[in-house]
Amino acid sequence: MFTYLDPNVRRKLIAQGKLRRINLQGRALDPNVAPAEGEPAVNLLGPIPLPIRLHRVHTQVQWYASVRSTELTKVEELAGALRTQGGGNLFSLLASSMAVNSVLAVGEQSEWKNPLVRVHSSCLTGDVFGSERCECGPQLAGALERITNEPGGGLLVYMAGHEGRGIGLWAKAATYLLQDAGEDTYQANRSLGLPDDSRDFTDAAALLHHFVGNKPMRLLTNNPKKVQDLANMGLTHITPVKHVLGVGERNRRYLDAKRLWGHQLDEDDLA
Ligand SMILES: [Zn+2]
Repeated sequence: MFTYLDPNVRRKLIAQGKLRRINLQGRALDPNVAPAEGEPAVNLLGPIPLPIRLHRVHTQVQWYASVRSTELTKVEELAGALRTQGGGNLFSLLASSMAVNSVLAVGEQSEWKNPLVRVHSSCLTGDVFGSERCECGPQLAGALERITNEPGGGLLVYMAGHEGRGIGLWAKAATYLLQDAGEDTYQANRSLGLPDDSRDFTDAAALLHHFVGNKPMRLLTNNPKKVQDLANMGLTHITPVKHVLGVGERNRRYLDAKRLWGHQLDEDDLA
């Protein structure tokens, strides 16, 4: 049992190929067999057709939801225990705390030769509220637009647990208050005793291995560390493509800090 879906629904989805399990190298595993102890695996649900209208983007993508098998199993176990102890109301709390990453696939995967790809870290304030303290919102919409405009399409991987470069939304809110007291975005993390950047790209790498395979790919990013992290996980055929969007007065200091930290941003990009 690796999902809290109804077992009959689960069986049907597996038979239809819409519920899959892959290993970190992106290879398919048997979804009916529990992964060996210590063998990390990712469950994938989809494709789910998703019509999208976001800024200037109007398209249809195939959405896949992805979650670690271990995380899902843990939630299932805890949920079962809670149910028997009458704590069923806590189930939603457990389920909503799972980091469910997303894949948005544009175009025909079998035709990809060197697809355009974006691995986007979740940012509630930027992506959803349109905050101008960072440039995440324009980068997300801009990435979808660029991928949609590619003749063969491409892929967007949305990393759910990457809020505040991995420190979570609560701590990120605290860093904003520290930033307003004069610290830069990295100093603020350190003041909280947290790393500058604790994002883990392991699942993103597994998804890229699975969806793109050994083909070369172009990655929309200004962050050399992201390219290096993915290369360390076997994705050595990545060409970074600059993705500078959403630069404005309100995030100039934030982007300056990113540039000093190592992001590939020139003075001209931020002018
Ligand atoms: Zn952001």
